[in-house]
Amino acid sequence: MTLRQLWAEGADLLRSAGVAEAELDARLLLLEAFRIDTAHFLAEQTRPLPETEAVRRQIGPYRDLVSERARRKPLAYILGRQEFMGLTFAVDERVLIPRQDTETLAELVLEEQKDPGLSVLDLCTGSGCIAVSLAVLGGYAETAAADRSEAALAVAEANARELLDETWEIGTWRPGGKEKTGNDMQDGGGGPVSGRRHFRLYCGDLFEALPPGKKYDILVSNPPYIPAGEISGLQAEVRSYEPRIALDGAADGLAFYRRIAAEAPLWLRPGGSAYLEIGHDQAAAVCGLLEEQGFRQIQVFKDLPGHDRVVRASL
Ligand code: GLN
Repeated sequence: MTLRQLWAEGADLLRSAGVAEAELDARLLLLEAFRIDTAHFLAEQTRPLPETEAVRRQIGPYRDLVSERARRKPLAYILGRQEFMGLTFAVDERVLIPRQDTETLAELVLEEQKDPGLSVLDLCTGSGCIAVSLAVLGGYAETAAADRSEAALAVAEANARELLDETWEIGTWRPGGKEKTGNDMQDGGGGPVSGRRHFRLYCGDLFEALPPGKKYDILVSNPPYIPAGEISGLQAEVRSYEPRIALDGAADGLAFYRRIAAEAPLWLRPGGSAYLEIGHDQAAAVCGLLEEQGFRQIQVFKDLPGHDRVVRASL
C-alpha cells in the first residue's frame, strides 16, 4: 500500500459521491490523517508504507475522514479550520464557512480605510472572519462584531482570542445583561479606556445589542442573502451542513439589507462608510435601498471571478 494508492482510493469514493474537487479533497484529508505536508507526499507517494501499527492508525482515520466527506460534509468542517485573508479561522457547523469571495470585501476596506484610529462594526459576524481579519490587518483602534446566534458568537470569540495578540482587549456582551468576559467592560462599550485596542463581541439581532448612542466609522457586513426558496437547491454541502440562519435572507434575499440600510445612518458617523457583501444579482436592489436612506458615493465592486460582490456607500 502506498500513499498514492490511498489517495486514489479516496478520490474515487469522493468522485462517486458527487464531490466537486474529489482529488484535491482526498489529498488534503490524506495529509491531515498522516500529518504530512505536500512536499512529503510528493516525495514519498509511491514508496510502500511500512506495515506497522502506527501506519494502520493513520489509514483508519483517513478512511473515516473520506467517508465523512463522501457524506458531503464540507472539508472545512471536517478539518475544523478555514483560511481567510491569510489567517486560519476555526470553524464548525455553528458558522458559515468563510468564502474567498468575502476577501473582496475585506481587501476593499483595507485599501480604502487606512487610518488605524477608525472604528469598525461587523454585523452578522459568524466566524468573525471579517471583523478579526480587519482588526489584525488594519489594526483599527476599535472593532465591534455582532451576531444574533450565540453559538456563532462563541466561535467568533474563540477566533478573536486566538488571532489577536495582547495589544487587544477582548470583551463579550450576551443577551440579558452585560456579562463580562473581558477586562475592559467598565465603560459600558464606549470609547477605549486605555492605550490598548478593543475588540468587542455583541450577541443580538443586527444593531440591537450595541451600546445606545455609539457611532462607528465603518460598517461591514456579509449578511444572510439567499432567497429562502432557493436554499433547497444549493449544493449538498451548503444546504445540509451550513447554518440556515447564516444563509436565509427571507423571501427575496434582501431582508437584512433593508434593515441595515434603514438603521445604519443612526450608527455611522457623518462621512462614515458601509461595505456590504451581496449576491451576484443583488447590486441594483441593494444600491437602491442605500440610496433611499441617504447614502452617497455608492459603488459596486466585483469578486475575482468577475461577479458583483460588494457595495460600498458613504454618508
Ligand atoms: N460574516 C461571516 C462571513 O462572511 C458570516 C456571514 C453569514 O453568516 N451570513 O463568513
